This record gives sequence, structure tokens and C-alpha cells, in this order.
Amino acid sequence: MKFNNKESFFTQVLAGEQGPLRIAGPCSAESEEQVMQTAQALAKQPVHLFRAGIWKPRSRPNSFEGIGYKGLEWLRQVKQEFSLKVTTEVANAKHVEEALKYGIDVLWIGARTTVNPFAVQEIADALQGVQVPVMVKNPVNPDLALWIGAIERIYNAGVTDLAAIHRGFSSYQKSKYRNAPVWQIPIELKAHFQNLPIIVDPSHIAGNRDLIFPVSQKALDLGYDGVMIETHPDPTNALSDADQQVTPAKLAEIFEKLQVRKTNYDDAELVNRAEELRLQIDAADHDIIAALAKRMALVEQIGEYKKQNNVQVLQLERWKEIFRTRADWASEAGIDPAFVEELYKLIHVESIRKQTAVMKDGIK
Ligand code: PEP
Ligand code: MN
Repeated sequence: MKFNNKESFFTQVLAGEQGPLRIAGPCSAESEEQVMQTAQALAKQPVHLFRAGIWKPRSRPNSFEGIGYKGLEWLRQVKQEFSLKVTTEVANAKHVEEALKYGIDVLWIGARTTVNPFAVQEIADALQGVQVPVMVKNPVNPDLALWIGAIERIYNAGVTDLAAIHRGFSSYQKSKYRNAPVWQIPIELKAHFQNLPIIVDPSHIAGNRDLIFPVSQKALDLGYDGVMIETHPDPTNALSDADQQVTPAKLAEIFEKLQVRKTNYDDAELVNRAEELRLQIDAADHDIIAALAKRMALVEQIGEYKKQNNVQVLQLERWKEIFRTRADWASEAGIDPAFVEELYKLIHVESIRKQTAVMKDGIK
């Protein structure tokens, strides 16, 4: 699939040597005054696109569900008064139609819509024959195929000016993030669609102001093409997502601090050193795989032994001990114990699979 020709909005911004694509604006358009005040402050900053949600998908009823159609008029005013391009979220065909009528420059599909192929197809159908740039947020759940599918549906409608937004994934596990980043998924998306720009939305990943900078920096370190940061003149009193919005002044500080890395080494000496380190990493990975092979061979032996003695495969106490001790060993070795626990969950599943196979038919 070929995204973003020379004339595309995303290509134009990214070719402009202005660093990452920068999108900012309130979570929701709340009042004309709030929208205009935010836009006025952002027009003085290197912002390429002004965002504001007009129709807000909220988890619970009786929360602020967006200002609706009249917000489109305010966005039109932002364009006229401050020459800022504007973007809003669309969740159905009617939203698309209205947004286009008001000259919204870029549309985005929200995380709660990307999960639903019916809704995405309805939007795609409404976009047939229209050339408007579209950004597709990741689905709420960590499902790469749904994200790819939504991008394909929009692309198949003839829209080639596309970008993806990584806003993190809902998770039942408690963490410091509102939505777990699961960086592996956007990395896989990037591998799947090599020329598709990826924008990070650190506001929805973090869920709080303090993590917006580190999450944005990490994304840029990974080669992301842009950031979308929720910005409000009075964040604590915002009608939605109050904890994760920053003031325009704070946004300016974040932009100032963000470092854009080079896409590659530009000096032969640096290339050599990186090559040397990569060779050592390859060797370390060979060792890891050899150690895993040895472990699995031992697991098979113990599986045989359990079979001969008619003992069940899953020995809970033993596994609890393994998780505990390996996490401790990791800490001692200066490795994140949580990472090693995750690794052992995978090793555990594979070890159990091998042993149950031995139990069943005696062959590996
Ligand atoms: C938003 O950008 O304000 C929004 C509703 O985001 P998401 O779809 O990522 O939850
Ligand atoms: Mn929001």
C-alpha cells in the first residue's frame, strides 16, 4: 500500500525539516472562548494541527459528551483567525459529512471506533471519493489486526493521506499509565506499513501530565513521526481528561525539551562501533537460545519422570518458587524483575506444553 504522495498534508509537514508533526489542542471543545483562547496561544507555537473533540465518546453516561455541531463553527473560526489547520474525531457517517462541510482539514478515528469494523466501514463509505487526511487511532484493546484492518478499510475507500496514532491500550493490570503503551504493537504496525507515519498521543497513554514528556521522548527515540498533546488553558477544570491536559506554556516547555534523533549514524566510525556492538548482541542472543534449548531438554526429562511416576505436570509450589527466585536473581543482576517475570510466564507456558505432550503420547 502506498500512503501519502508528495502533496499529502503529512508528507508536506514531515518534509518541512520542522521536527516531528505537532498536534495540540483541548481534549474537548467546551466553549467558544476556551477554543479561541487555546488556539491563540498555540498559533504562536510550532503547532501544525489544532485538535478539539466535538463528539466525545465517554465510558459512562451523564459525563460531558461534547459540544456537538456548534463546535464545528468554532473550529472554522480557528482556521480563519489563526491560520491553523484543524482536526476533530469522527465516529459515524454524519460526523464525516458535517466535518467536511465545515472545512475540517484532517479527521481522526478514535480508539473506541477502531475496534468496530462496522463503524469504520461506515466512515470509509462516507469518505469515498473525498481526499481528506485521516488519522487512525489504535483500538482500545491490544489487537494489531483491528488497527491494520481499520487503516485498510479507509485506504480501500480511496483515502491515501493516512497516519496512525498510538494512544495506548486498556489493560486490567494496574500500571503507572492510563493506557499501557505496549510499544511492540505500533512497532509491528510500522513494520507492516513501512511508509505510514506514526504519531504518539502521550496524553491518553499517560493519563497524567507528568508522563507526557517521557512518553513523547521515548516515541521520538523509536522514530515516531509526530506527537498529539492535549492542551487546555485551565487543565484542572477541563470537562474531560482534566488530569492529562497541559497549559500552552507547559506545552512550549515540552516542545523545547524534546530531542529529535537522527534516523541513522552519519559517520563511518560510529557505524563501525554500532556494528561491533551488534555482533556482541548476536553472540549474547545465541547464548540465550542455547540456554533455552538446554532448559527445554531438561523439562522434557522431568516430564518423562513425572509420567513414569504418574505425577501431574503442573506443580504449583515449584512454579511459585521459580517466579520468586528468578525475579530475585534478576534484581541482583540489575535486570528489571517485572521483565524477567513476564519472560518466565512465556517459558512456563512452553514448559507445560512440552510436558503435557510427553504425558499424552510419550513423544516430544
Ligand atoms: C481523544 O483524543 O480525546 C480521545 C477520545 O481519544 P481516544 O479515542 O484515544 O480515547
Ligand atoms: Mn481526551
